Amino acid sequence: MGKLRVKVDLALCQGHAVCMQEAPEVFRVNETDGHYPKVEVILEFPPEDLREKVMDAVRYCPNRTISVEEIPD
Ligand code: SF4
Repeated sequence: MGKLRVKVDLALCQGHAVCMQEAPEVFRVNETDGHYPKVEVILEFPPEDLREKVMDAVRYCPNRTISVEEIPD
C-alpha cells in the first residue's frame, strides 16, 4: 500500500472542525477575522496508523473539503 497525501480545498472549508475531531494529528482549524475558520493540514503525509482517522475526516467533512491521494511507494 502506498503513502497517503492529504489535500484540502480551502474554498469549500467552512470551519466545522469535524476533521479536527476525527484526526487532530492531521487537521487544525484556525480562527480567521470575520470569516469562517479554515482548516490547516498539519501533517500532509500521515503515517499508516492514522489512515482510518483521515478517511473518517474525509467521510464526515460536511463540505467535502478533504481529499486524499495515494502516492505509490
Ligand atoms: S475541512 Fe471540512 S470539517 Fe474540516 S473545518 Fe473544513 S469544512 Fe469543516
